[in-house]
Amino acid sequence: MTRTPKSVIIVGGGISGLSTAFALLEQAAKADAPVTCTILDAAPTWGGKILTHRVGQLVMEAGPDSFLSQKPWAMDLCRRLGMTDQLINTNPIEKKASVLWGSQLHELPEGLVTFTPTQLGPFFRSGLLSWMDLARMGCDVLIPPRRSTDDESLAAFFRRRFGRHACERVMEPLMAGIYAGDAEQMSLRATFPRFYELEQAHGSVIRGMMAARRARARQGSGGRPAHTMFVTLRNGLGDLVTVLAGHIQKAGGILKAGVQAEAVRVRSHQAGRWMYDVICTDGTALSAEALVLATPAYVSAELVRPLSPLAAGLMDMIPYASTATISLIYPADAVGNRLQGFGFVVPRIEGRDLIAATWTSRKWPHRAPPQEVSVRCYLGGVGREAILQCDDEALAHCVREELAAIVGLQATPHYVEVNRWHRAMPQYTIGHLGRLAQLEAALSRFGGLGITGAGYRGVGIPDCIRDGTEMAAQTLRYLQTTMA
Ligand SMILES: Cc1cc2nc3c(=O)[nH]c(=O)nc-3n(C[C@H](O)[C@H](O)[C@H](O)COP(=O)(O)OP(=O)(O)OC[C@H]3O[C@@H](n4cnc5c(N)ncnc54)[C@H](O)[C@@H]3O)c2cc1C
Repeated sequence: MTRTPKSVIIVGGGISGLSTAFALLEQAAKADAPVTCTILDAAPTWGGKILTHRVGQLVMEAGPDSFLSQKPWAMDLCRRLGMTDQLINTNPIEKKASVLWGSQLHELPEGLVTFTPTQLGPFFRSGLLSWMDLARMGCDVLIPPRRSTDDESLAAFFRRRFGRHACERVMEPLMAGIYAGDAEQMSLRATFPRFYELEQAHGSVIRGMMAARRARARQGSGGRPAHTMFVTLRNGLGDLVTVLAGHIQKAGGILKAGVQAEAVRVRSHQAGRWMYDVICTDGTALSAEALVLATPAYVSAELVRPLSPLAAGLMDMIPYASTATISLIYPADAVGNRLQGFGFVVPRIEGRDLIAATWTSRKWPHRAPPQEVSVRCYLGGVGREAILQCDDEALAHCVREELAAIVGLQATPHYVEVNRWHRAMPQYTIGHLGRLAQLEAALSRFGGLGITGAGYRGVGIPDCIRDGTEMAAQTLRYLQTTMA
């Protein structure tokens, strides 16, 4: 007897929505559970923030340029898509990053980017911190863990454990740079839960790091890993989107680009079985038994508001920061050897417009021909968004002035590209996890209605993939209960 397939609609075809669709079709096939999956996106192309293009022989990323290899979910997806041979490491020779402090660049010691302050010598040599500051950092092993179970800001945590200077000059620019956020407002537990766990389990971050290192050595996993901390795909992250979308289509998924969801309503609800309508701006409507919203939280809020004003209100409380990336290409001979390492980050306390700069052609040397140097600068972020009101020319001028002042780069780029990211970086502010739990509870009374995406349980590509995969499993479990 043939069984009628259960239908699922996924709204949003960024990496979160695509990962949900891929995992759903894969898991349904394994479980012999017939499912149809339609995925729609307002944009004409797939991938959301992931946007790769070429300028001459150069691979350019307008959005993300790499992902963390230590979080396994993106690596695992690449393996399942047969793309492992396209993964590439960062340049092994040039791997240092710097911090701008007191108008000078200070090289960050290796290991610091992952924040493992178990060797203090390299910290001192960087010139960023005095012996007094280092002694204060070492106090981490003596300071008892915080007793309160209330959430704490990232800045408060690092100041408490390592002192003000280490927080301002090292941790804040590194951590806040990832989120384009303000460390004073960011939730420790929602953004870097590992630090909270280390403090709770070992009484000290440094002691916890050392215990983890000893455990790795005992397990014999202390050798050099095959991949650097950040990896990317040879021809850009856009390939991940293309291959993923291809697999979804091959598995029977229906991809509808250029279709914007305008409203969601419950068509029917009987005996634990739900049916949803998604009304699109082109006047069409789609119906399905399960619905996953993989759109930014502020978009999902508008879609669910008629169903659950409470859930919508909680989604409204997730702020998003806007940023701009400015990519510049120079003739290599005009740049000379001014650019060392991978680039630098700028602490908020320096009061500059620039958040960070990456020497992209040094970080990923195979992506640029030897006669060209590519640089990417970041502007905006929480509390620094006013500059984004300027036009593209002014933004380009601003970063060129910054590069001239900081690294003496006066050359004229022969190509400049400004990419604006309006409300693109979700901010997990203090109390985020508590509000998320309330949001999940508010939506749990709607069978088969799920949310995924960078706004909730992790902003990086690996976390989005993990969350989409879990959302697929949850959706399938629900559908199986209705298959009987
Ligand atoms: C400049 C920048 C640099 C970054 N760098 C990195 C990095 O190096 N490494 C890393 O791991 N992460 C990085 N990130 C973060 C990461 O790229 C994102 O968090 C992630 O790609 C978000 O994926 P998503 O699918 O959740 O959301 P999105 O990519 O935003 O996808 C949401 C999709 O929903 C669609 N949509 C919106 N409204 C509707 C509607 N009404 N109907 C239908 N569709 C709709 C949109 O068109 C979009 O395609 C960066 C982000 C930015 C902005």
